[in-house]
Amino acid sequence: MAQGETSGSAPNRRMRSAWLTEFRRLLLSLALGWLVGWTLEAPHLGMATALLLLMGFHLRQLYCLALWSQQPQRSELPDSAGIWGVIFEALYETQRRARGRKRKLASILSEFQASTAALPDGAVVVSPRGEIAWFNSAAQTLFGLRSPQDIGNRVNNLIRDPGFSRYVDGQNYAEDLHLPSPMDPQTTLSLRLIPYGNGQRLLIARDVSESRRLDRMRRDFVANASHELRTPLTVLAGYVDMMRPEAVKADGPLAPWAAPLDEMRRQLTRMETLLEDLLKLARLEAETPAPRGDAVDMPDVIESSLAEARQLSAGSHEIDAELDSGLMLNGRQSELQSIVGNLLSNAVRYTPEGGRIHLRWAVESGDEAVLRVADSGIGIDPEVIPRLTERFYRVDVGRSRASGGTGLGLAIVKHALEHHEGTLDVESTPGQGSVFICRFPSYRISRAE
Ligand code: ADP
Repeated sequence: MAQGETSGSAPNRRMRSAWLTEFRRLLLSLALGWLVGWTLEAPHLGMATALLLLMGFHLRQLYCLALWSQQPQRSELPDSAGIWGVIFEALYETQRRARGRKRKLASILSEFQASTAALPDGAVVVSPRGEIAWFNSAAQTLFGLRSPQDIGNRVNNLIRDPGFSRYVDGQNYAEDLHLPSPMDPQTTLSLRLIPYGNGQRLLIARDVSESRRLDRMRRDFVANASHELRTPLTVLAGYVDMMRPEAVKADGPLAPWAAPLDEMRRQLTRMETLLEDLLKLARLEAETPAPRGDAVDMPDVIESSLAEARQLSAGSHEIDAELDSGLMLNGRQSELQSIVGNLLSNAVRYTPEGGRIHLRWAVESGDEAVLRVADSGIGIDPEVIPRLTERFYRVDVGRSRASGGTGLGLAIVKHALEHHEGTLDVESTPGQGSVFICRFPSYRISRAE
């Protein structure tokens, strides 16, 4: 038996003695009443008077209790023996504990508020109905929120941006949202909603202007450097191409230079391809998502990429395709061409001679437009699949270079897909082949008449 439950425990003993006191008080009152009544020759009247007085005492205690329960901080409970003493003490104890808990909670709350106020990130608590329940001081600076006027207002009314409203009303908070600060259009904010508790959401806002600026500088630098390198490269290629016909003449003055000139031409072509891919990537990064209105004839795009792939393969592979001839996609033709072209060129370059390449363009799972490029090539270790779309990542650098790869193809595919709200999945078994799967959302599909 637990200690508190034993019949001889302190609270039980106290309770028993309180009831005993109460009974003693009752008996004493009756005895006194009877004695006084007996001296006045009316013992019953004396006892009744004593009971009335006792009842008066209990009523007074009840009155004190009622008064105290209304305003515990203003009134005090009287000291009392007997059962009233037990009740009053228990109430005092409960009140003392509640005060202690309240003080502790208040100090935790003020510590929390002080720490969130010191946060450089804006934090806004949004209720399930989309109203602002609380925000820190960084949120005041970043969003221009005012305390306490804006508490209770809908967050959509205070941060007026269609993208933000869609983000808040939607349920997909996995990605951050970038938008200009309502206080300063030069400041870019990165927003994230974190759901918690019972439909509550915490909106975190971070000023990412500086990292955005550095990112833009890096992109501009790569684009400018690639652009600047193009002109000298064209000049060099011009001279090499001019000298080559002379070099291939067996008795000409440039005859000993035939092999070095061929190597120079190969290296120049590599550099040209690399610059072309770098510029393409820089342009893709600077571009906004592709508009959803322009229908691109995907079967046509695929046919022209297939022709290029067959040229690259030069008959070494069996290449076939299964196309839904009326399935068009709304987007940018050049980017979609890059996606198909890069995937097919990879399939050719990483499939040994005699291998098979199969492309499929069709609607799958009821509504998605899906492009599958499957090959029976060297395959990819599943562990490195997540890294394939990193710039310059190559499983085998030597093999990639030897086949004319730049290490940028899949990075370009990834960016172009993002512009079309598409995703890339890779399934592969080393030594058996790979399948690259691009999925496009149904709302980008359009049908040829
Ligand atoms: P690269 O120009 O080197 O081909 P990519 O970005 O196109 O660059 O591809 C990155 C790497 O992914 C390649 O170097 C290669 O190792 C691997 N890869 C891409 N496609 C295939 C494929 N179809 N089969 C096997 N490996 C592939």
